[in-house]
Amino acid sequence: MPKIVQLSAHVANLIAAGEVVQRPSSVMKELLENAVDAGASQVTAEIRGGGMTFLRVTDNGCGMLPEDARLAFSRHATSKLRQAEDLAAITTMGFRGEALAAIASVSRIDLMTKTPGAVAGTSLHLESGQILEESEVGCPEGTTMIVRDLFFRTPARMKFMKQDSVEGAAATAAVQRQALAHPEVAFRLLRDGKEIFHTPGDGKLLSAVYGVYGREAGTLAPVDSHWEQNTVSGYVSKPTQARPSRAHQLFFVNGRPVKSKLLQSALEEAYRNQIMVGRFPACVLHLTVPANAVDVNVHPAKTEIKFLSEKQAFDCVHYGVLAALRKLHDRQEVRLGEGKPVAQQLSSLQQILAESPRPQAPKADAVAQVVLAQKPMIPGPAPKPQAQPPQPPLRKQPQPAPEKRQPDPVQQEIPLPPTPDYQILGELFDTYIVVQGAQEAWLIDKHAAHERILFEKLRAQRQEVSSQTLLTGQVCRLGEEQTALLLENGALLEELGYEVESFGEGTLIVRRCPMELDPQQAAECLADLAGDLAQGRDADRDTLRDRLLHTMACKAAIKAGWKTDPREREALVRQVLRRDDLRYCPHGRPICLKLTQAQLSRQFGRS
Ligand code: ADP
Ligand code: MG
Repeated sequence: MPKIVQLSAHVANLIAAGEVVQRPSSVMKELLENAVDAGASQVTAEIRGGGMTFLRVTDNGCGMLPEDARLAFSRHATSKLRQAEDLAAITTMGFRGEALAAIASVSRIDLMTKTPGAVAGTSLHLESGQILEESEVGCPEGTTMIVRDLFFRTPARMKFMKQDSVEGAAATAAVQRQALAHPEVAFRLLRDGKEIFHTPGDGKLLSAVYGVYGREAGTLAPVDSHWEQNTVSGYVSKPTQARPSRAHQLFFVNGRPVKSKLLQSALEEAYRNQIMVGRFPACVLHLTVPANAVDVNVHPAKTEIKFLSEKQAFDCVHYGVLAALRKLHDRQEVRLGEGKPVAQQLSSLQQILAESPRPQAPKADAVAQVVLAQKPMIPGPAPKPQAQPPQPPLRKQPQPAPEKRQPDPVQQEIPLPPTPDYQILGELFDTYIVVQGAQEAWLIDKHAAHERILFEKLRAQRQEVSSQTLLTGQVCRLGEEQTALLLENGALLEELGYEVESFGEGTLIVRRCPMELDPQQAAECLADLAGDLAQGRDADRDTLRDRLLHTMACKAAIKAGWKTDPREREALVRQVLRRDDLRYCPHGRPICLKLTQAQLSRQFGRS
């Protein structure tokens, strides 16, 4: 065994640098945190060459005395922590006292700093962690730190750097995160001489969000709520504005940007059944917890944290976001092209003729729709009380409905006021119900709407889904493994309204199934559930239950293209227009689109 030696401070710093300083964005983060800790109200960041060749942070904070400036670059030198107990309740961004030492060990640094009221400031030049020059300078109060030639003596690390554009983007994101973490500080970022963004520092999170994301900020939903000792506030995207990745999920705990799987799932759970698979909500969420309820010292770069009570943190975010989403009242608008009135787009008669489709014999139902649409709007009569038994809906059902089957579950929903302030005009393509109100019209996707209504109804049956006994059991051939899995999960099946028995050789017989399904559909749903169980995916019960309820709702819902009974249609419309929870189908597609009179007037050049 070779002899053990104590590593030199320089080597120790290089090792720490491996953890703390991985790329320009990590340098940026540390310098910005120091500026915030110094009490700055204005911070300007600048990068060139993706931050590899030049990275500067200027602040108007408290500055450093000459002796502090020198000490700042040694390992474990910090002004933010004095004794072990302080670690239990950290309120500053930094506390480890190793960032400057680590950064200095792998770059060339110029520092200029001046404390308020001092006659002169201090200037230092360092290379590889050594102070090579020191002088007095005239400079504004605050601190400027310039980091050049990152990793110039550590080619091994240099090899891992990506193109300037990639590093530059990461450094930009680091500044954005700090700007969103500290709305009370005005941030400005310059990249290769151009301003990328700035925030006003007025203390309002929304102003910072506008600074960073521009107008998009206006489409976000505000979150603001308390839960036990915790507070959550910020902004989340609407379910229809989901993103293809989680890149725009930003969480801050006590002002510190953190990565947290816990908070991520608390957020996503709130969007459950409202968002398409493979899409993710965006957020800028600040969670405030008592300083001693969180351990920030679990990661060298301080980007991960540990909550004393994970449940409280989860619930705070989860219920906060849920409440915010519930408050969203607007329905999505139909987008009508580029907003230019047709009259302006087609200037000459020739052009209009050239661009109009060849005349075709009008189809009978097309004419019928035009007539319907031209009917002046009359406040509709009260819908007739459903005294007469509802007619069976026209459905292409593979099997006759079993005895106990309800003709249409929609009609048993909560009672609603009798006089509608809208009129159902008809249906487009046997798919979209057209409804007219006083100033606006709606297009309702009848399958999506019915699916959601059924889904909510099934979910509301908290304990057990109401079921029907099949006169002749439905045989369901699934294979040995899946059959066994289903039989093992008998209790879950029961909750879901199923009773199954083994029928030998990888086959089940369904004795009872949910009321909403016909036997064939029930068997198909079982196969889906068996598939989920077999893949072991989402082993958690609620998810499995929800997934099965989706499938059930989807199978039992009216399909696009089917002819719908007018009363069924009316019931659907009533539900959709009166209930705020009916916005998206369980897959996240919108149920209802709005078309306003103003929008049409604009489009036709009337306004
Ligand atoms: P930490 O932030 O964990 O204390 P750093 O290595 O990042 O450790 O910084 C060391 C010390 O240098 C800080 O504790 C602070 O006193 C001082 N310092 C760093 N940057 C600034 C700044 N921009 N303005 C004032 N003081 C600073
Ligand atoms: Mg620091």
